Amino acid sequence: MSSNKPSSRSVPAPIPGSSTLSFERILGWIGRFTPQFKFQLQLYQRLLPPESFAKLVEESLQVYRTILVSLAQTPAGAERARAVHRLIDHEYKIKPPKDVSCSKGCVACCTTFPKQVSNDEAALLASVVRERKIEIDLENLKIQAQAKSKARGCPFLTSDLSCGVYDVRPAACRKYHVTSPKELCADENGQVTPQIELMPEIITSAALSLPDAEIGFLSEKVLEFLEKTPLVKNSDPVIEN
Ligand code: SF4
Repeated sequence: MSSNKPSSRSVPAPIPGSSTLSFERILGWIGRFTPQFKFQLQLYQRLLPPESFAKLVEESLQVYRTILVSLAQTPAGAERARAVHRLIDHEYKIKPPKDVSCSKGCVACCTTFPKQVSNDEAALLASVVRERKIEIDLENLKIQAQAKSKARGCPFLTSDLSCGVYDVRPAACRKYHVTSPKELCADENGQVTPQIELMPEIITSAALSLPDAEIGFLSEKVLEFLEKTPLVKNSDPVIEN
């Protein structure tokens, strides 16, 4: 989920009815964008006739702008992360990913490459850790956070190989669907083919374009937010009013 530098122009200007849009100009209308968004637009630019591509860009930017304005009015933190996740889930509900080889218990992507999260998502994860009394190996998390991009293994992966925070998992996890054979995901040299859909990338790009948006590696960001909020251990007594 790395992105280009934020632009002061987070809200795009209206698109002129041009059929010869330069790619740099399109991206200039967007504050920040995911690499997948750029990849998908480039693909469409190659595949579609110029007029159809211009129409797609216009529609995409209108959706981007609507989502950006809506998210800007949503309180920052866990609530805004949930709003982004709802939008992404809605997109996959109305247009389910096809030919996906991911299945329950297949957690190669949770162990083979580090995910990036927004500050909002880190706040959500930290609040859930606290509310649900999820035990986190803080020492391991610190080691992972220091290793940054080399960090492997998600702190939320459970011993029975499931996601311990599935309902609040970050956008990076929600959007990750592969169509290549799942054996390749566990192979460091495997040629994995992730499926990319435009709408979830527009939503994530809008979230990234918020003026206060920040992203970082999951272990680093979760540690940062856990340190801001006291941890509750499972062994702590439950105090009832
Ligand atoms: S948050 Fe869940 S789905 Fe995402 S990497 Fe961690 S264990 Fe996997």
